[in-house]
Amino acid sequence: MEKLFNSTRNIDNKLTPSQAIIKGLSDDGGLFVPEFLKDVKFDYKEFIGKSYNYIAKKILGAFLDFSEEQIDYCVDTAYSLNNFETKDIFNVVEVEKNLSVLELFTGNTIAFKDCALSILPLLLNCAKENEKDKDNVLILTATSGDTGKAALEGFHDVEGIDVIVYYPYKGVSRLQLLQMLTQKGNNVKSYAVKGNFDDTQNGVKEIFNDTEFCEELKKYGVKLSSANSINIGRLLPQVVYYYHAYARLIENKKIKEGDKVNFIVPTGNFGNILAGYYAYLTGLPVNKLICASNDNNVLFDFFKSGIYDKNREFKKTISPSMDILISSNLERLIYHMYNGNDKKVSELMEKLSKDGKYTVDKEYMENADNFIGGYATEDEIREAIKYVYENDGYLMDTHTAAGYKVYKDTKEDDTYSVLLSTASPYKFSKDVYHSIFDGEVKANDDVEYMYKLNEKTGVKIPNPVNDIEHFDRREEEVITKEDMRKSIIKYIEGKK
Ligand SMILES: *Cc1c(COP(=O)(O)O)cnc(C)c1O
Repeated sequence: MEKLFNSTRNIDNKLTPSQAIIKGLSDDGGLFVPEFLKDVKFDYKEFIGKSYNYIAKKILGAFLDFSEEQIDYCVDTAYSLNNFETKDIFNVVEVEKNLSVLELFTGNTIAFKDCALSILPLLLNCAKENEKDKDNVLILTATSGDTGKAALEGFHDVEGIDVIVYYPYKGVSRLQLLQMLTQKGNNVKSYAVKGNFDDTQNGVKEIFNDTEFCEELKKYGVKLSSANSINIGRLLPQVVYYYHAYARLIENKKIKEGDKVNFIVPTGNFGNILAGYYAYLTGLPVNKLICASNDNNVLFDFFKSGIYDKNREFKKTISPSMDILISSNLERLIYHMYNGNDKKVSELMEKLSKDGKYTVDKEYMENADNFIGGYATEDEIREAIKYVYENDGYLMDTHTAAGYKVYKDTKEDDTYSVLLSTASPYKFSKDVYHSIFDGEVKANDDVEYMYKLNEKTGVKIPNPVNDIEHFDRREEEVITKEDMRKSIIKYIEGKK
């Protein structure tokens, strides 16, 4: 069987897995999906008692056109104690009866994007090897805070690849900013862009779709690629931890073989939860996939009504990585809901870009009926953090707490549930602190709050951020959306 990925907007646009990883986004603006998805099945029983890396090799091996040596190399290099604080990579911790937390924040940037971004550069280099591709790759990434640092961290000093990260000016936390500004490596760069995350992301998308500009870059021997969660090299590694968590629940006797499990996923761009859907489609016993949002509750409305409508106020919240009005990866779900009808996907995505809105017909919404949407307001997030800390003795970050609130809202029975924890509480220390503790605090920013929170709770501060304010750092560079192309040329010229 030849493994090919086709575009969601034109199924005749097909690439090999290696080509799709290099390319990121299809020329027609669509996202790549595995044409052979229905032929991929995993037997979770085979994963019981096996290491994270074993599971990762099986899953990635089934989707990619890589040699066994390449898969082994990528997985074992990415998922090691160099990059993650725990030997099992992600811990599964029971916090309440019938509820475990899957801690996806044990990597170097203390958030879940480390999972995919620690392996993507390795996958990309193998993909280039397979395609005999000698071009330099320039990764452009729009970030609401976490992806940026994770991309810089994942790619720094990787041969033949450069990274430019764009984040919304004043739209990331001080810790996120420090994490980016303290990044080492001569091939990585970050810029603040005036505007919100959607402006930043649209700016990057426009550059990818600007064929004239891409031609200009070719003259420099540079080819653009995306490390955003639309890249299949981001998506596929995330399928692994759903199986991993399921296997650990069996090993720990929390569930029996074959029991269906709910997964609650704090969602922004819809990449994480889509990986859960792929786990489900490839054989994992999943009951519900619960999509948790914050006050930017576009997805909640979508799952309720079939209407996706981004025409609403963009709200800055205490769970900033979920502050998103256009969830790019939803396009893949739409494609699967319409059983691969690329014309329909193109039509809806055109409506989205023209009117900011589209509707999925009811009969097709039924194809996604194991998804449930929910959301948490700012106060509900704070209450959840306090409740879980006081009742379960467990410290959650703001994103995870949004998930917890939605878990409570949607809980119907005793079906075992896994809440995906997407960030360490120390990534959002200030809001976590004030959710639990009253009174005056003399702390100016989330970095100082990190130490305050540690004093009060005794929960260990992850090594990669402990003392970060004393690491060497560079100045922040601020640009406008209109200057993004110029910033790329300047960077390339500067490297010559
Ligand atoms: C990126 C991120 C999310 C959203 O994940 P998506 O895959 O974009 O849905 C949620 N929480 C945190 C902490 C994140 O960094």
